Amino acid sequence: MIGILAVQGDFREHELAYRRVGVPTRRVRRAEDLEGVRGLVIPGGESTTIGKLAREYGVEAEARRRYEAGTLALWGTCAGAIWLAREVEGYPDQPRLGVMEIAVRRNAYGRQVESFETDLEVEGFDRPFHAIFIRAPVITRVGPGLRVLARYQGDPVFVVGERLMATTFHPELTEDPRVHLYFARLAGAEEAARVG
Ligand code: GLN
Repeated sequence: MIGILAVQGDFREHELAYRRVGVPTRRVRRAEDLEGVRGLVIPGGESTTIGKLAREYGVEAEARRRYEAGTLALWGTCAGAIWLAREVEGYPDQPRLGVMEIAVRRNAYGRQVESFETDLEVEGFDRPFHAIFIRAPVITRVGPGLRVLARYQGDPVFVVGERLMATTFHPELTEDPRVHLYFARLAGAEEAARVG
């Protein structure tokens, strides 16, 4: 089962993306909702709001416990990637889980180009992935043990590790299921997927 953190942001789009490929999901709002969840998706949205609510509702503590116990994989998209990041430049008190050894700089593509689309070469994909970036953070540091699967203008935009995945773009806003399926596999929750 894939869980989708559903406190703020575009969790419905992630739900639809998994529905299209037949992977069951559950909305996660409270700690109890993580029972039986192998992989948790943290959507794009407003990272401070997501972080505050996840803390207040007990999801942060329970996700940390399950991640550290080795039973939960985590995928953050955009604001979700900020939630996972060990370091948020300029915002040391940003409420977040912080288990992934990456540093991020919020809204770092600048005001003029808040949003853009591009075709990314992704390691392991046989054709480019059309990626939508919306007020995306820039990943400025990637720790050992993590692998960069795609870059935009030299900066990492798709990073994976053991039970960890971060994308600064929004695969839930296109109909290409490959990144969602990649995470379902990484989380060991792909059994119900129709395509792979
Ligand atoms: N700029 C947002 C933040 O820092 C993230 C944007 C997004 O998730 N699309 O919270």
